[in-house]
Amino acid sequence: MRNTSVLISGAGIAGTALAYWLRRHGFTPTVVERAPAIRQGGYKIDIRGAALDVVTRMGVMDEIRRERTNVQGASIVKANGERLASMGGDTFGGREGEDTEILRGDLNRILYDLTENEVEYLFDDSIVSLTDDGDGVRVTFENGGTRTFDLVVGADGLHSATRALAFGPESRYVRGLGYHVSIFSVPNHLELDRWELTYVSPGRTALMYSTAKDTGAKAMFLFATGTLDYDHRDREQQQKLLADAYAGEGWEIPRLLDGMADAPDFYFDSLSQVHMDRWSKGRVALIGDAAHCASPASGQGTSLALVGAYVLAGELAAAGGDHEAGFGGYEQATRHFAEQNQNLGPGNIKHMVLRSRSQVWFQMKMLSLMKYLPGKERMMAKVMEPLQKAARAITLKDY
Ligand SMILES: Cc1cc2nc3c(=O)[nH]c(=O)nc-3n(C[C@H](O)[C@H](O)[C@H](O)COP(=O)(O)OP(=O)(O)OC[C@H]3O[C@@H](n4cnc5c(N)ncnc54)[C@H](O)[C@@H]3O)c2cc1C
Repeated sequence: MRNTSVLISGAGIAGTALAYWLRRHGFTPTVVERAPAIRQGGYKIDIRGAALDVVTRMGVMDEIRRERTNVQGASIVKANGERLASMGGDTFGGREGEDTEILRGDLNRILYDLTENEVEYLFDDSIVSLTDDGDGVRVTFENGGTRTFDLVVGADGLHSATRALAFGPESRYVRGLGYHVSIFSVPNHLELDRWELTYVSPGRTALMYSTAKDTGAKAMFLFATGTLDYDHRDREQQQKLLADAYAGEGWEIPRLLDGMADAPDFYFDSLSQVHMDRWSKGRVALIGDAAHCASPASGQGTSLALVGAYVLAGELAAAGGDHEAGFGGYEQATRHFAEQNQNLGPGNIKHMVLRSRSQVWFQMKMLSLMKYLPGKERMMAKVMEPLQKAARAITLKDY
């Protein structure tokens, strides 16, 4: 096997999964992560379709099932809190069969636990420069060290530093969908028990949910913004943008917004996608959101990250470590799958955030009538068909 030493930037879902598969194929991965430890908790994500096969092959499906959010149901609420319509949690989340919802941090910890004894992790550090000299990649770290690796893989998310260093500025590849998302922990003042509430008004949607084993709750805001100019590191500025966007709104919104100042995990970002012609250049490749972020609106980012990690490690191993053949095989096998799932994002978000008063009125009317309709679960399954189809739009090889 050639090119056995591989540096992975980012210990998120894609990075830890890739470390696992590379190790299993006989490579020696090192993972550098900017955060001081694996990030716990966070928002809930789905694992579905081909990604279920990946976690099953990793032997962690039972643990993932044990850690699932177990959200029982979801309701759409009016400004006065009245529940207009409710349905089962899986139906609402577009899950069927073995599809599983889990907190992102719980999945990350499961994948990390699987690899921590066999993989070198460098926390609290990141790459500041990369030089691919044809025989290897010389990497300088923020903490001052310099090392050479055979290959480097960027698994460092939407705002990937590896992508910026090897492929050029983010503005070339990241496309905003015209919305922002914010999510953070709040006290569970409504005493929700594994339940999700959604409030919709023109251009603004807000959710509050509680999950199994989480004594608190999460507030999530999805709103139409066009392009917003702000400092990505300035939390106060982001909180003001959020508060201004929801000023004067009803339901529990003022109380949820009150919680953001103390939230330990305030998250705010644009809903964006990453589009690139190539996911590798010389000895550097990208996976997960860094390569092809589909945006939270697709509901498929985690599954794409898991599948990408499996295929990249498998193709490199099948090519005996030859990076040109391995990276090429990875891209050929996964590009169609990634594009199918990216295509879901722009359409989904239009149903998640309604633009006009008349759209909101019509949707609320439909939902209030829904409880009288026979076969509403079947109707939802039909709506979710494109998601299920995209989630299966790849046949995994056995490597
Ligand atoms: C609010 C929200 C809801 C979502 N809902 C869903 C859903 O329902 N279903 C779904 O499938 N997906 C969902 N997603 C998307 C999903 O979280 C991502 O697509 C998925 O986590 C991608 O994994 P990743 O490993 O590529 O990136 P990430 O999970 O973002 O991990 C990147 C890692 O790299 C680290 N890092 C960043 N920069 C550096 C650096 N310079 N050096 C070193 N390390 C660095 C980060 O700390 C992090 O650990 C959602 C996302 C959000 C924000």
